[in-house]
Amino acid sequence: MTSAPLRLLHTDIDERVRLIREGHGDWLCGKGCDRCCKRLADVPQLTGAEWALLQEGLAALPPDQLDLIATRITALGPTPARPVTCPLLDPDSGACPVYAQRPVACRTYGFYVDRELGLYCRDIEQQVADGALDQVIWGNHEVIEHALARLGPQRSLTAWFEDWQAQRR
Ligand code: SF4
Ligand code: SF4
Repeated sequence: MTSAPLRLLHTDIDERVRLIREGHGDWLCGKGCDRCCKRLADVPQLTGAEWALLQEGLAALPPDQLDLIATRITALGPTPARPVTCPLLDPDSGACPVYAQRPVACRTYGFYVDRELGLYCRDIEQQVADGALDQVIWGNHEVIEHALARLGPQRSLTAWFEDWQAQRR
């Protein structure tokens, strides 16, 4: 179940994404584009509220699929080489198997910018450089960071997942 503060954050993000998509029908982000999931700077970091939601999605997966995810998480080890491919990503379809329950960072990537660092997605960054994306009112990533900080500390997906698996044994 999504906590009330997280639900509010999702609603804000969904609205920003909707407005951007509405004004740009050919926006790059879409099913099958998995490049961001394959070039993460680190293993996804989640607050407890985000993990509680993600865990629901994981628990609903077929056992075989969950086993494969567990294998990929173990293979990452304590210091994964960068760029990191998200261990949840389905390598065959390029889809996120827990799309409805995905973390906030996955929801904002491609639609939000950081004032200091700029855009995160290189493909969209290139479009901006080419002048193909004008009049985009980007989401403000600092606002997201502050909202997440209010949800509590973050832990890596690996840590959350391994604790969960240990409890299930
Ligand atoms: S953020 Fe970039 S890489 Fe990720 S789905 Fe959007 S266009 Fe594709
Ligand atoms: S949780 Fe899903 S959307 Fe997020 S990085 Fe992993 S596969 Fe991609």
